[in-house]
Amino acid sequence: MIQLYIPLNFLGVIYREIKQSLADMERLFSLLNENREIADTPEAKPLVTRGAAVRFDHVNFSYEAKRQILFDVDFQIPAGTTTAVVGHSGSGKSTLSRLLFRFYEVDGGGITIDGQDLRGITQDSLRAAIGIVPQDTVLFNDTIEYNIAYGKPGASKEAIVAAAKAASIHDFIESLPDGYNSMVGERGLKLSGGEKQRVAIARTLLKDPAILIFDEATSALDSKAEQAIQSQLKEIAKNRTTLVIAHRLSTVADAQQILVLDHGRIVERGTHPQLLAANGLYAQMWQRQQANMDDEAQEDELAGLAPA
Ligand code: ATP
Repeated sequence: MIQLYIPLNFLGVIYREIKQSLADMERLFSLLNENREIADTPEAKPLVTRGAAVRFDHVNFSYEAKRQILFDVDFQIPAGTTTAVVGHSGSGKSTLSRLLFRFYEVDGGGITIDGQDLRGITQDSLRAAIGIVPQDTVLFNDTIEYNIAYGKPGASKEAIVAAAKAASIHDFIESLPDGYNSMVGERGLKLSGGEKQRVAIARTLLKDPAILIFDEATSALDSKAEQAIQSQLKEIAKNRTTLVIAHRLSTVADAQQILVLDHGRIVERGTHPQLLAANGLYAQMWQRQQANMDDEAQEDELAGLAPA
């Protein structure tokens, strides 16, 4: 009996493995299908930017049938200006950036850059025009120079150093024993979240894209780190059409336009003072955040006063 049980059990394991790999194959095929959907059409033309004004024209979107994520999202980012998107977790903020990068196709409406519909332009030219500073930058197991130059293959050393200086990471790099040749990534030097983000900013400055997407880190930063990131953001957003995906409100006060998303719909829009005056969802979120900050400050004070 035991002799029979072992091979049967073994077959069971194999069956489960085959089933699992079939499931993986299915996922792979659905991914391939997804990619096929957003393949360039034969008529696709390279994007031509003149200032890079972005328009979301009554966009509807769902990742899966039956669960719509964005509803009639309609807004413009005038060329060279900054628009920030705020809203509760899961309201659809990052989805906007994925659609602008055309990772997915919209279900209804359209997205244009300088009047050119994303569906009619080549993906290479689209992706060359957009720089993303993501929440968590992935570093390659290579030198820090390579990681910055990745933004623009073949960039000169002078250009790399200029970008690193503008991103306030040059002095840190110079302080490393191997300087720009220091190995970073999983098998090299581990950089802090803020340092990684600065490498991403240097990479983006080197790429010099017309459009910038800044996906703010969700993890709380101390106020000094946050101020530093804010001033760098201002630096890279200068004269670029910028979409800031804001997970905290403190980074958005200077934006020319703030969109408030709620369950996939834009429920308010305006500048920071206008939205505070409107006394709606944004004002509530702002007041709650201020109260939290006061609590934290109070906690810090108490911690400071606590006997050692
Ligand atoms: P957060 O502030 O937490 O980052 P967000 O506002 O950026 O949230 P999105 O990441 O845009 O939210 O997600 C919007 C909704 O879409 C969420 O309900 C999420 O679960 C869903 N979603 C996101 N990515 C996918 C995906 N690849 N497949 C299916 N659903 C997804």
